[in-house]
Amino acid sequence: MNNILFQYLDNQKVKSNLIQSLRASLASKDVLILQALDIVKLSNDGVCFSTNDSSVVDTVKLKGIDKHIKKFFCDELFNGQEINIEFEILEISKEEIAVEVESTNSDNNSNKPIAPKPINLKPDFTFANFVKGNSNTYAFTAAYQVAKQPGISLNNPLFIYGEVGLGKTHLLHAVAHEIHRLYPDKVIRYVSCETLLNEYLEALRNPNRDPQKQLSNFRLVRQVDVLLVDDIQFIANKEAFQEEFYNTYNSLNDSQKQIVLAADRTPQQIKGLQDRLTSRFKGGLLADMHLPDLETRMVIIENLCRRHHVEMGRDCIEFLASSVSRNVRELQGAFTSVMTKSSIQNRPIDRYLIEDALVDFTEFDRPALTVDVIQEEVSKYYDIDLNDLLSDSRRSPISHARQVGMYLVRELTNKTLKEIAESFKRKDHVTASHACRKVDEMIKNKDDKSQYILDLKRYLQRNFESGSR
Ligand code: ADP
Ligand code: MG
Repeated sequence: MNNILFQYLDNQKVKSNLIQSLRASLASKDVLILQALDIVKLSNDGVCFSTNDSSVVDTVKLKGIDKHIKKFFCDELFNGQEINIEFEILEISKEEIAVEVESTNSDNNSNKPIAPKPINLKPDFTFANFVKGNSNTYAFTAAYQVAKQPGISLNNPLFIYGEVGLGKTHLLHAVAHEIHRLYPDKVIRYVSCETLLNEYLEALRNPNRDPQKQLSNFRLVRQVDVLLVDDIQFIANKEAFQEEFYNTYNSLNDSQKQIVLAADRTPQQIKGLQDRLTSRFKGGLLADMHLPDLETRMVIIENLCRRHHVEMGRDCIEFLASSVSRNVRELQGAFTSVMTKSSIQNRPIDRYLIEDALVDFTEFDRPALTVDVIQEEVSKYYDIDLNDLLSDSRRSPISHARQVGMYLVRELTNKTLKEIAESFKRKDHVTASHACRKVDEMIKNKDDKSQYILDLKRYLQRNFESGSR
């Protein structure tokens, strides 16, 4: 193709085709990262992408995604000819964002009506205040893309999941802030699932007997441009509300309105969720959040210090960040407690002060991770009766859960295989060794079930004190 012809290609469409094509060969997480890249130039020499996030380019190269991109362009546009792929990093500073805000607002002021900004957004839950690290880059990128282009089908719905205190609500608010900034005419609603449910129940109490009229006020939610529902897992087992939400969901989706959901687990893990909702939720973009690593936690503390005009040495920041590793909310709590102690007792912030202040936050108050605890947690997680878990049943969900249980005991306690077999009421240690090997293989082969096993392992490590017998 010559350069003149390239001029006529719509870069956005080329990017959608690229994404569609790579969905066949890459994991959905890896496809997601492509959304953070824009095609800025297509010519005989090759393709140039731009992004304002250098970690995106690092990931693309590290995971070899660039080779897939190259292959797509060679095959589809360049008749097999070798081409170059370049990445350009646009650094956007906070000052530029501020200028952009002003110009966006003034442009839009003149033309379009401004929708009110939701009043329930925390002003500091913005993208600028969110610290990125390996644990949350996908979710951040997904949220950022949604905010830039709300309603495009690949991102709809965006479903963010992760344990408490890892920044899900922060990202939902950030999306709302950013959409309001970029598209002030869009009507945005941020609501927790519980509030939405209460509004629904309230509407049902309306004395009007005609169900259509009865719910008409509640159904105003179908008229928003962007609906963000937090803690959507609370929808579980509320059959009638699920029905209503399903219709709301379809109505918004049909008119290309953006939906963003946050939950503490994946759609499949929300028990008591109707299959059709599970499949809708899974149909968009799933982005997980994990505990930030030490380095990211240190940056979070550094930011807190800057925001609160506090001086803290690097060794103290590292000590604080490594002492509190359950979630970011707790990290902030620990930071506040250090600040308070320092100011009340008029003491400088050093390791001793931090140790004193951390008494409430140290992790030795966690219950011990015993075999009983593991068995109980496994039976809860897989929804299997504890008696069945310890029985002879060979039914596949039960025997799978049992094997996972034995594997977790091996991984998280000091029990021998013989002891593991006995604690699961088995006579022979071969049973335990077979179970552990099978689970090892699942994890090695990234079997469908392996993510669940690793999630459960992480949960146990996070919430219990391991290493005990
Ligand atoms: P969740 O909704 O996942 O339970 P939140 O969004 O309420 O968690 O986050 C808990 C606290 O931690 C909030 O104050 C939030 O601003 C902060 N936080 C979480 N992750 C980050 C991050 N990566 N950078 C900055 N602050 C964060
Ligand atoms: Mg939350």
